[in-house]
Amino acid sequence: MNRRGFVRGSLAAAIGASSLSTSGAFGAILSPSKGVDADINAVTGAGKSVTLKKTAMQELGESLRGNLLLPGHPAYDDARRVLNASISKFPALIVQPRGVADVRRAVDFARESSLLVAVKCGGHSHSGKSTCDGGLMIDLSLMRGVRVDERERIAYVSGGSLLGDMDNETMQFGLVTSAGTVSHTGVAGLTLGGGFGRVARRFGLSLDNLRAVDVVTADGRLVHASADENAELLWGVRGGGGNFGIVTNLEFELHPMQREVVGGTITFPFSEARQLLDFYAEYEASAPDELFLCMGLQNSPQGKAVQFNACYSGPARDAERVFAKVRSAGTPLRDNLRTIDYVALQRSGDVDDPRAVGSYTKSGFSVGLKPKFIDAILDGFGEQPGGSSVFFLYHCGGAINRVAADATAFPHREITLTPLLAVSWPITSDPTAQVAWLRKYWASVEPHMQGFYTNDIIDETQKQVDENYLGNYPRLVALKNQYDPANLFRLNANVIPSV
Ligand SMILES: Cc1cc2nc3c(=O)[nH]c(=O)nc-3n(C[C@H](O)[C@H](O)[C@H](O)COP(=O)(O)OP(=O)(O)OC[C@H]3O[C@@H](n4cnc5c(N)ncnc54)[C@H](O)[C@@H]3O)c2cc1C
Repeated sequence: MNRRGFVRGSLAAAIGASSLSTSGAFGAILSPSKGVDADINAVTGAGKSVTLKKTAMQELGESLRGNLLLPGHPAYDDARRVLNASISKFPALIVQPRGVADVRRAVDFARESSLLVAVKCGGHSHSGKSTCDGGLMIDLSLMRGVRVDERERIAYVSGGSLLGDMDNETMQFGLVTSAGTVSHTGVAGLTLGGGFGRVARRFGLSLDNLRAVDVVTADGRLVHASADENAELLWGVRGGGGNFGIVTNLEFELHPMQREVVGGTITFPFSEARQLLDFYAEYEASAPDELFLCMGLQNSPQGKAVQFNACYSGPARDAERVFAKVRSAGTPLRDNLRTIDYVALQRSGDVDDPRAVGSYTKSGFSVGLKPKFIDAILDGFGEQPGGSSVFFLYHCGGAINRVAADATAFPHREITLTPLLAVSWPITSDPTAQVAWLRKYWASVEPHMQGFYTNDIIDETQKQVDENYLGNYPRLVALKNQYDPANLFRLNANVIPSV
């Protein structure tokens, strides 16, 4: 496992990642012969077979400014893939929109044939919710762009943009909003379900900073949602994920922040894991909002270790004092905490090697780190088979907690940690033993958690999803009934319409 930093970045490093964008240097592309040769078979959202007529697909392709890709086209294979190499699905067709008009055409086409629809932004969904077998994939990778209004402190972000696009553009003005820790994650996918990251303890979740959105809803309309217009829809997309439509533009509130922060990793011997967990249990809860301090237990062919991954964005003069406590919590093996450009730190977990590694993850939420939870973590972590694994304790709390549970659709406002367990393997090897170990170990630690992050769902039951929305669930169902009564957008933490 790559040891550059474990804050989800090591997961990316382990998995292998690319921007997942295609060149987009062509117009509407159909089959390899630049035309639709024949009718094709596809599947509906309900899992039934449907025949897509050659003429209908020709019309769709000709109406797009972007691309229509069918199996066999050289660009199809790259477009269908997602970050997790263990997920290999084959959509019947892929639309790569170049703007809102293309998104609307794709949604109309899908609705008219009741097609299964997958929406891909950064392609980071662990469980591969952004791809599908036999349906229509709407791949937003050609819709990237960020405009910053420095005076009003607002960023306007296109629906296919990646986190690195946003950080890079906002930071040129000394402005920032919350974003995750791997720069090739999609802004939309991350934000609509939550958005934890290095400055979320200061400025809230990404979705807390979302002021307005443009959404193409299931009926093909473009709907603007803000505090003044369709406010209930804005409430719903802030935590309800992609349930209500395809978000083509996101408007974020920005905050002034200096470019230079103190960040990086400190690594300790695994033999000190218990004392470090005890330290972390106390320190994570009392840490200043400007400190993001994640803890991770790592196991790789090189051995086991405990690593803290940090970002301190408060006054530079205080950093030494803040980190002295972390440094003295054990016997550091490596310490690379340093003054670093925030955008560079945000990229520090990225990797170039695309999709060579499979992964399986489970995650949950936790309020604090109680002694019995620590016992459970340590009991199971030693027993794993070969390969690489990591148990993160992702730092939440701070401003995330200072929002009412019903202020947005994201209800888990008491959490201080997101525990996440991941195993990864070279895609050529057999992961059966590792995945079995993860499931067994997870069953032993899960009772210490309360709910889970919808962006991380994998192998979920509908009951778990419904209950995880807590008291916000009835409002989400009402919104789903209004904006997507036939459940066109179902590959997500799905809210089932009741009409
Ligand atoms: C390496 C890695 C690092 C991560 N780090 C963090 C982190 O630091 N913080 C954090 O909070 N989470 C993190 N995550 C989890 C991440 O939030 C989710 O995986 C998220 O779904 C990724 O969004 P995406 O656009 O890249 O994914 P995709 O797979 O493209 O999309 C996921 C889902 O989002 C929805 N969606 C995407 N775009 C749109 C759109 N424009 N309109 C409507 N719906 C849309 C769709 O339902 C889609 O299935 C990480 C995941 C990975 C793999």
